[in-house]
Amino acid sequence: MNKKQQQYLQALGIQSWESKNFSPSETIEISSDETLDSNRQKIWLELEDRVKHCTLCELHKTRTHTVFGIGNKKADLLFVGEAPGANEDQQGIPFVGRAGNLLTSMLKAINIDRKDVYIANILKCRPPNNRDPLPSEVALCTPYLQEQINLMQPKLIVAVGRIAAQFLLKTNDPLSKLRGKLHYYGEQNTPLWITYHPAYLLRSPREKAKAYRDMLEIQKRL
Ligand code: URA
Repeated sequence: MNKKQQQYLQALGIQSWESKNFSPSETIEISSDETLDSNRQKIWLELEDRVKHCTLCELHKTRTHTVFGIGNKKADLLFVGEAPGANEDQQGIPFVGRAGNLLTSMLKAINIDRKDVYIANILKCRPPNNRDPLPSEVALCTPYLQEQINLMQPKLIVAVGRIAAQFLLKTNDPLSKLRGKLHYYGEQNTPLWITYHPAYLLRSPREKAKAYRDMLEIQKRL
């Protein structure tokens, strides 16, 4: 972000999210599953194991690791992104690259530590060259996410970016039409908020102001 943009955000009272360059030595704190009862732990482990060995679509042929999800499985807040990128595929952890660092900063801006929420993706394997997920891949992979949501029963789901928003709301509407209002997901009518994907914010830093408003809305609803 250049100086002028920073001044603009400051004038609006908006904290800027400068993304650090991704450093592989940066450690992601992993929350412990100790507080889950043993039956729940078993169900989660069994689901993770199914994902790890999944061969339902072609993406299993090119993945290094599956990216199941990370965080507090009892959290009220679930973030759903699109699909693993190169760093995530290498590490088996969602949102660890530059976009991930920015997501962590966005959470920090509302005093949330990323280990206290749960973060998952629409797809568990990386699409080659980070292309958009194919409808067939989404159809085959999302039952895993659905199982995660059923197990977690979050109080608020945050769709991160267009692909997650369109899948969760079963719509083709553009993000611009969907953002800025509360939606409800699934049979449980779980409140769902939509924000920009941090990879988009890295390309369009001006939109960080709107994303900050989303974060405040998320904070307010918790
Ligand atoms: N983008 C996503 O949507 N998910 C990740 O895990 C990483 C980048």
